[in-house]
Amino acid sequence: MRVVDLIQRKRDGEELFREEVDSFLQGAVSGKVPDYQTAAMLMAIFFSGLSEQETVDWTESMLKMAPALDLSGLPAPKIGKHSTGGVGDKTSLIAGPLLAAAGVTVPMIVGPGLAHTGGTLDKMESIPGFNARLAAKDLVAVLRNVGLAINGPTAELNPADRKLYSLRDATATVESIPLMAASILSTKLAEGTDGVVFDVKTGSGALLKKMTDARRLAQTLVTVSKRLGQRAVCVLTDMDQPLGNAVGNALEVMEAIETMRGNGPADLVEISLELAARMLLLAHPDRTVESAKEQMFQLLKDGAALQKFRQLIEVQGGNPQVVDDFTQFPTASDEFVVSSPRAGFISRISADDIGKAAMLLGAGREQMDAKIDPAVGIVLEHKVGDRIQAGERLCSIYYNQETNVEEASQMVEDAFHISAAAPEAHPLVYEVIQ
Ligand code: URA
Repeated sequence: MRVVDLIQRKRDGEELFREEVDSFLQGAVSGKVPDYQTAAMLMAIFFSGLSEQETVDWTESMLKMAPALDLSGLPAPKIGKHSTGGVGDKTSLIAGPLLAAAGVTVPMIVGPGLAHTGGTLDKMESIPGFNARLAAKDLVAVLRNVGLAINGPTAELNPADRKLYSLRDATATVESIPLMAASILSTKLAEGTDGVVFDVKTGSGALLKKMTDARRLAQTLVTVSKRLGQRAVCVLTDMDQPLGNAVGNALEVMEAIETMRGNGPADLVEISLELAARMLLLAHPDRTVESAKEQMFQLLKDGAALQKFRQLIEVQGGNPQVVDDFTQFPTASDEFVVSSPRAGFISRISADDIGKAAMLLGAGREQMDAKIDPAVGIVLEHKVGDRIQAGERLCSIYYNQETNVEEASQMVEDAFHISAAAPEAHPLVYEVIQ
């Protein structure tokens, strides 16, 4: 079969057969198919889409090239979590310890932040000494010992995704829903879990800003996971304003710890408990949502999750004292306060602008290999719906380098929209798709 014929058929909206998908992807990853043809195929898919069967085939074909993590020796159930990414999203740091405290094995293979969204890998690496680059056998040992491990990819976990994602990034085809689903699933299903909870975010700070797109991705993730024999559930959550108050790596870990001490912001607590309960339900399908939520709430309240987090830090080489003493975290040298220019209600806090401002301070990276500053970031003092006075503090910016502070603070000030009337409240959890 000629690659150009496959591209032509996809361009014209026809379906590709399994052997054609396999052959095309193997060629794309090995270099036999030149990048310009792979890029053309990605664009054809962007416009013509993939059918459900093609998405299953595309995902399985990518998975076949990914060396799976072997967790077969560990006690079941093993449940994973994936988030499409957001601003201030530290739910993995709370849901992981909660599940481990409930006796579920949670392998968390996490990535760095990209663009305006944060990454769990960067957050965990802001803990002094924490090693999130364990080899597979050490990762399995941590999982056996703690029930939870938080680690970057152990090897080149998913070579097909690496290749395709960089081409998608360069050809404006990242937003293709079936390509996104295949990318996420081929990475997640290689982790050797029995089930995965997907947190698909929607709103200004999310990858998919429109609800209809986010819902389509969620439905595809669940349908394809099930067709591949995995238990899966998808929670559609709000990312129209940052989650919690802290944005920035060490600042977010501190907020996660505060939450596990029982002092978390209401939105972060609600979404963390929802995701954790859904993970528990995947592990124990006979339970009810209410009893799963109640157990998660108890484990948060009685300190069991925090104890797990402390144990995890210690076992992965980090300084467990950070849990009791925040001065052990890297801290920024300077603070700049952003105040409200007028009185009114906060009607919006544009999450992507807050994420971009944090990135300008050094909390995130524009290029994959850029170095980040774990200490810097933004702490909000008000959220959407709050009534404020002129001159009242909106948030603090923590920084080490003067260079971008002026631009970042302007961006942060502009991110807050102040109106005369109170805004309508949004739900935090829009839908649960299973
Ligand atoms: N996250 C992924 O892992 N892949 C995508 O394509 C988009 C978001």
